[in-house]
Order: sequence, then C-alpha cells, then structure tokens
Amino acid sequence: MGKSRPVGLVLDPLFERHDTGPGHPEHAGRLLHLRESLTASGLADRCTRVEPRPADDADLGRAHRADYIAQVERACLAGERQLDSMDTAICAESAVIARQAAGALGNLCDQVARGELSRGFAAVRPPGHHAEANLAMGFCLFNNVVVAARRLQAEHGIERVFILDWDVHHGNGTQHILEDDPSVLYASVHQWPLYPGTGAASERGVGAGEGATLNCPLPPGADSEAFLSAIGDTILPAARNFDPGFVLVSAGFDAHRADPLAALEVETEAYGEATRLLLELADDCCDGRFVSVLEGGYDLDALAASTQLHLETLLG
Ligand code: ZN
Repeated sequence: MGKSRPVGLVLDPLFERHDTGPGHPEHAGRLLHLRESLTASGLADRCTRVEPRPADDADLGRAHRADYIAQVERACLAGERQLDSMDTAICAESAVIARQAAGALGNLCDQVARGELSRGFAAVRPPGHHAEANLAMGFCLFNNVVVAARRLQAEHGIERVFILDWDVHHGNGTQHILEDDPSVLYASVHQWPLYPGTGAASERGVGAGEGATLNCPLPPGADSEAFLSAIGDTILPAARNFDPGFVLVSAGFDAHRADPLAALEVETEAYGEATRLLLELADDCCDGRFVSVLEGGYDLDALAASTQLHLETLLG
C-alpha cells in the first residue's frame, strides 16, 4: 500500500551546524557521514527531499513550557556551551537548528498525513527523545517526536498516534511528556540498566494514560533476536490493539553491537526486519502512514549501514 507514492527524506547540511565541541559523541560528523553514505549509495536520490522549516511556538509549546523554550534560546544567544544537565552541549545556533529539526520532522509528517508521500525518514540533529517539558538532557533540546505527534493530532485530526522508540536509551522525555495522555501509545525497547535510568517495565503510564506506556528493557548483551522479539511479540500486538492513525519511530541506531555508548548486540540486519514489522503495522492500521526520525547512533559506519537498510526497506 502506498508504494507508488514517493518516500520522503530530510537530509540537510544545516543540521551539521549544531556544534557540540571537541570529543562529544553527538557530533556533526555523524550526520555528515550519514549524508555522504546515503548520497553515495544512491538511496537519497530515490527519495523526495523534504525541506527543513523552523517549528513555531505553537508546535514547540505542545511539548515544552514557554519559559523553557525562552531559556534555551537565551542560553544560545548568550554564547553558553552547556544546557541544564551537563551532557547537552550547545553553540550560538543550536536553538535555531533544534527548531529546524522539529520543524523538518513536522514538514515530513504533514506531507505523509496529506498523502503526498507514502512515508519517510528525517535525519536530523540535535536528537529529541531525552528532552523533557522543561529540561534539556542527553544531547536533546526539543523533543522532536512529541512535537510531531501532537502536531499530527492538532493539525491533521489524527486521534491516536503510536510512537515506537528503538533507540538503545529509554526516551524519558517522550514518556514523561505523554505519560498521562491515553491518545499516544509510547513504547520503548532499550538497554537497562543504562542512561537515563528510567524505563522499567513497571512504568505503564499515569492517570488517564495508564496502559499507554509500554517499556521493554533488555539486559546488556541482548541480541537481535531479543530486540526483534520485544518489538514483534510484545510491542506490536499492543500497538495493533491501540489501532493508531499514524506510526512514528524514534529511530536511534545505538542498540547496534558496534555502538560505543551501549552494550546490546543488535546486528545491522535487525533494523531492516524491525522496519518491515512497523510498515506492516502501518499498512494494517493507517494506510501505511509511517515516519521515523533519527535519535542516537554513535558508531559512524554502523549508523550509516543501519540507516541505509532502514531507508531501503522504506523504499520497498
Ligand atoms: Zn540513544
């Protein structure tokens, strides 16, 4: 379904201008290497390019407090190099680029929601899933995937959105912002224990959102089979039951066995299979409406190979 319509891709050198300083694992070279490899493989040319645009205050305000947004912008303009928890480095342009990351993902989601594109992938940075409503964390300024989910609901009338977060780290920000909201199912497969320390299986949502949070922690050393089983056997049945109108993926590729920041043993091929499973869900529930957004992934070659396979699977 939807195979005849083009696949969208956000891939823009703009996102390489977010400068995190020397020695930082979330550095511009990640995206430069990814951009070069997607271009050299011909995959980028097989997609329809989706341009960035700045997310506006209404977009960001669906995920973040106004005083937090102002504080991020003030810190960048003042020339500060760190935000909040000391792992989130910034440069003067970072707030502008983070707005473009959230807005580019919004642009891609708009085009998929309108049926102009079948599905798509946004290769943006800074990543988003650790950003809380009022706190920068874990290399993340604005929570791109939450901004996108709430935009789909507010601007496109999509009632229920499913977010799968397969980054190796738990998406604490995404979970916390959405945990009392029954209209977004947030599911995460991640290594535990590991940064940021949240994401126990017992965290299932709060109040009206009880049951709309699903955590699948995996022990260090867990392999492709465990990763795919968490997605296929635990998460996807719950997602099918939820019957989403749109499927979003927080696609970090740091569960890969080569990744230096974590200790899972996921092989490149598993990302193709995981993508296939998610596309099947989207075809069954919501006319194939699927968008993924880059989160982590710190071994450059593993990131490029996994993303290539992900995109190849989207292209069908
Ligand atoms: Zn991560």
